[in-house]
Amino acid sequence: MTTPTPRLSYRDAAPTPRLSYRDAAPTPRLPFPCGEAATSPRLRLADVEAARDTPGASALLFITDRCPVGCGHCSVDSRPDSPRVTDFTLFEGVLDALCAGEPRLIGVSGGEPFAERRALTLAADRITAAGKHLVVYTSGFWGNRTSGWVRRVLRACSCVFLSTDAFHQARLADERFANAARAIADEGTPLVVQVVDDQDAVDRAVGLLEQALGPCWPEAAELNRVGLLPYGRAAGLVAPRPLVAGKDFGPCRVARSPVVRYDGVVAACCNEAVVMGRGPAEFRRTCGDAPETAEALKELRHHAMFSVVATVGPGPITADPRLADLADRRFTSICELCWLVAERIPDPAHDPLLTMLGVLGGARRPGQS
Ligand code: SF4
Ligand code: SF4
Repeated sequence: MTTPTPRLSYRDAAPTPRLSYRDAAPTPRLPFPCGEAATSPRLRLADVEAARDTPGASALLFITDRCPVGCGHCSVDSRPDSPRVTDFTLFEGVLDALCAGEPRLIGVSGGEPFAERRALTLAADRITAAGKHLVVYTSGFWGNRTSGWVRRVLRACSCVFLSTDAFHQARLADERFANAARAIADEGTPLVVQVVDDQDAVDRAVGLLEQALGPCWPEAAELNRVGLLPYGRAAGLVAPRPLVAGKDFGPCRVARSPVVRYDGVVAACCNEAVVMGRGPAEFRRTCGDAPETAEALKELRHHAMFSVVATVGPGPITADPRLADLADRRFTSICELCWLVAERIPDPAHDPLLTMLGVLGGARRPGQS
């Protein structure tokens, strides 16, 4: 029988005996703040993933199209002059609906959320006042000068996702990333560094974390490797994927989490093309105020096709005689099949066969708590 080795926490003031991730030379900084208990509920990557995997537990607020960074791989084609919040009455309605709704975790992305001071501070205040978890996705472009309002938002977050890779690096100095990582950790907020799944990019991210947080960075930060998405400016950068037969596609986890745009558009999933207005209209509802937004969220929550896509997957739907030709057709992505299903079924929200499949797959029916 072996005895587990006691592991020190990054919060311990004494230097830990553990060397850095790759046994590189020790960094000059010791782990940042020690000994303080979190003042608000904190989430790690697994918690956020679990919420996103649970139908109805999370939603994403797409707070702006705008971003000052201009990466070459931006899947939502954000630019410094992209549209942003202009109608704050509508935006507050969107927030009211999100805050009164079922999801317990509200992610905030864009574009760059921190490019929207007024909208982001409003969202942070309302979401946390409603007792929900706030999770913000950022590039850390603000890391050269972390002002008071940025720190206040970081403190309100249950977790912050910070992206870095060669594309970000080309636009943002390493120092900004390191400063942003340190600012997040200084507020006691768990940090998830999102990095393109490439070993050089991962090694570089680890080096930056060591520089920012010291050798015990894994106590405060986690790495999340993600693939490049074949949308927006990344469309031509992604290698062709192997083709998959329609019947072999399993559940789509992002169909479990709706996206609410700042301009009142509610989308069934966070497929970038869908969020940016492409694909079948069935995926989006355009809302003008809080009641319409709330109604759209409720309707999508009980939507027969999206419930099946989220719980069973579009593959088993191809057993439907109306879709039989899609079963063995080969697709480059699950979304390609999903879009076709939405176009082929006359009323995918209420289709009896899909409703039955959804119930068998564990989807919740309207009125069921
Ligand atoms: S990838 Fe992120 S940081 Fe880069 S331009 Fe797009 S929104 Fe901005
Ligand atoms: S499979 Fe359908 S629901 Fe899932 S991300 Fe693609 S388009 Fe959206």
